[in-house]
Amino acid sequence: MYITRRKTRQIKVGKVKIGGDAPISVQSMTATDTRDVKATVEQIHQLEQAGCEIVRVAVPDMEAAAALPKIKAQMTVPLIADIHFDHRLALKAAEVVDCVRINPGNIGAWWKTAEVIKAVNDHGIPLRVGVNGGSLERHLLEKYGYPTAEALAESALNAVHALEDVGFTNMKVSLKASDVHMAVDAYWLFAQQSNYPLHIGITEAGTAQTGAVKSAIGLGWLLSNGIGDTLRVSLAADPVEEVKVGFEILKSLELRHRGINVIACPTCGRVEIDVVRMANELEKRLGHIKAPLNVSVLGCVVNGIGEGKEADIGIAGGEGVGILFKKGKLVRKVPMEELMDTLIQEVELLAQEREAEESSEEKPASGQGNGGPSQALRPNATDAPSALGRELPVLPNKR
Ligand code: SF4
Repeated sequence: MYITRRKTRQIKVGKVKIGGDAPISVQSMTATDTRDVKATVEQIHQLEQAGCEIVRVAVPDMEAAAALPKIKAQMTVPLIADIHFDHRLALKAAEVVDCVRINPGNIGAWWKTAEVIKAVNDHGIPLRVGVNGGSLERHLLEKYGYPTAEALAESALNAVHALEDVGFTNMKVSLKASDVHMAVDAYWLFAQQSNYPLHIGITEAGTAQTGAVKSAIGLGWLLSNGIGDTLRVSLAADPVEEVKVGFEILKSLELRHRGINVIACPTCGRVEIDVVRMANELEKRLGHIKAPLNVSVLGCVVNGIGEGKEADIGIAGGEGVGILFKKGKLVRKVPMEELMDTLIQEVELLAQEREAEESSEEKPASGQGNGGPSQALRPNATDAPSALGRELPVLPNKR
């Protein structure tokens, strides 16, 4: 494990711990009309099936807020209400959900935020303070001229300090921009000054492929530098894809180990099986498996089996037959037409063994303590100067 995570305070969104030594959780947001309970619950179930650990729904009006109890009753993962503009929606949602997200930049007068704080406090749920490049406070736009990383960080810090001033600390923070540099810089600046857990993401990242690449670069940099306690990959695609990409990012950095990791060779002139089709089929048919398993599909045995040493199990093409191997060692030859089904069966068996062996608890990344820092009223950032007041540090690329 190469990554030392930033030490953050810990909060709980329903049963999911965020920050401290908790695993970095993957969340997503429904794309359905929240007033349509049936469609929303259906999508939530798809997200749960994909491994999504927290689901957020938009609450644009009172009808959507009124739908929340029915939605909440039919789901198993924690529910977050996403509120903009109208604080009364947050008051209503707080009665039901596990966390409320507001953007202080667009909620209006301070007394409205104060009412939301009272409501979440009364219900014992946390708040997500979500700062966004598209809705910064006017005085910050005047100060910086346009949305910048510094403006985002200052907005988030101001919000955090205002909440602390009334004794509220049960929160996580996000600072989102669609520009990768701006988002990364904003999170970095904030992380130097505060130890609240961070929800990380690149907002409006784009279509499935573009958004996945942008998110992998932005979130990859942050996570590699220990920043980030929960994440959402924002894609203009089926939200289930967001969950898959989120886990792929975490798996690539060895921060989470969940489900099948398909290792497939790029193929070359030696290829003897349809690697591309088989790798895609594997991901599809084995998406339900939770146990972490490396499964490899290699085009030939020339380098194949040796290259597959990292894999728990795999197949390689070999002169008209398929070769099944485990940990780089040949197990048996399999007729080509049975190769795919044989591999699926073997992986299912292996997964059952693993799931029986392993406790549900995942190992935390190194450098994390045995619990989050205490919920002191006015925390000082860990390893960082006091933020309050206060000069932002200079970004490394602007020094
Ligand atoms: S495993 Fe075989 S087919 Fe695949 S890239 Fe290597 S040599 Fe080529």
